[in-house]
Amino acid sequence: MTEKKKVTKIGVLTSGGDAPGMNAAIRAVVRTGIYYGLEVFGIMRGYNGMLEDDIIPMNSRSVANIIQRGGTILKTARSKDFFETEGRKKAYANLKKYGIDGLVIIGGDGSFRGAQKFANEFDIPCIGIPGTIDKDMAGTDYTIGFDTAVNTAVEAIDKIRDTMDAHDRLFIVEVMGRDAGYIALHSGIATGAENILIPETKTDIEALIHSLTEKEKRKKLVNLIVVAEGEEFGGAEEIAKVIKERVPNADTRVCILGHIQRGGAPSCHDRLVASHMGYYAVESLLIGRHNVMVGVINNKIHYTPLDMAVKERQAIGQEWMKIVKILAS
Ligand code: ADP
Repeated sequence: MTEKKKVTKIGVLTSGGDAPGMNAAIRAVVRTGIYYGLEVFGIMRGYNGMLEDDIIPMNSRSVANIIQRGGTILKTARSKDFFETEGRKKAYANLKKYGIDGLVIIGGDGSFRGAQKFANEFDIPCIGIPGTIDKDMAGTDYTIGFDTAVNTAVEAIDKIRDTMDAHDRLFIVEVMGRDAGYIALHSGIATGAENILIPETKTDIEALIHSLTEKEKRKKLVNLIVVAEGEEFGGAEEIAKVIKERVPNADTRVCILGHIQRGGAPSCHDRLVASHMGYYAVESLLIGRHNVMVGVINNKIHYTPLDMAVKERQAIGQEWMKIVKILAS
């Protein structure tokens, strides 16, 4: 077995889409690192900070009073140059200037793809912490931000339902999730949506129109449809267009929840998961468990090699859709 070099100075960054709870993870990484005698640096704006030498020393006070704040104090971004070998070389040279010999990357699958490449090319071990509201990653039951985002969606949809019921309307609410349907599925079930449309399952638009027409005949056309933004049939606007054409008597309205789902104070659950993952990410660097993503499966910390974490998606069990149908009937 090859002896792993001891890590002494680590960098932490947030990359890709922001998610509430990223600050709690940064705080955990910084404070755990300092506790174990490491020097910790914050890298600004994702991989851009590595490329542009925007790297700042962190101490325990730098992360005071942030656990409850949404967004990320390190800012986040997407970096075109990091896709290129030349860009990654430059990033490595900048890290070396500070003597940084380990990285914690808080982000989604794209960020981990970049981290995996970087770790393969240079002798800098990388640990991933899944931070994405989309919950679209294998190797973990939770991603930081999902719980907060889904609770924000539920709160908003509850309010929409009140006005929907008052007016006997048909509402189509679009939630985020990129090409994953978790926010739609969870928020739809939690708000008693009559229909949930997600990219992971084939949408039977004829069956949907049929059920709406039947309801219309019974003069009971109050209906909540929750649709994921990545739904293959189209988003809320496209679905509304078809319904307006085929069920013209329905009083159809659209609401796209948008970026409110990304902001706000992280939920208790997201803060806890982020704190755990941050701690175990640093521990992984210290004990030489390198190039893994720290996840949680069945409420236990679980490590997945970065290359596996980016290859697979968390599947949505078919029983979920059955439950949706039964409970909405
Ligand atoms: P997320 O991490 O939320 O999925 P992105 O997919 O936008 O977000 O990825 C964030 C950043 O990670 C990209 O802007 C880029 O800098 C880096 N990255 C993503 N994929 C790769 C890749 N294949 N090679 C190198 N860097 C990558």
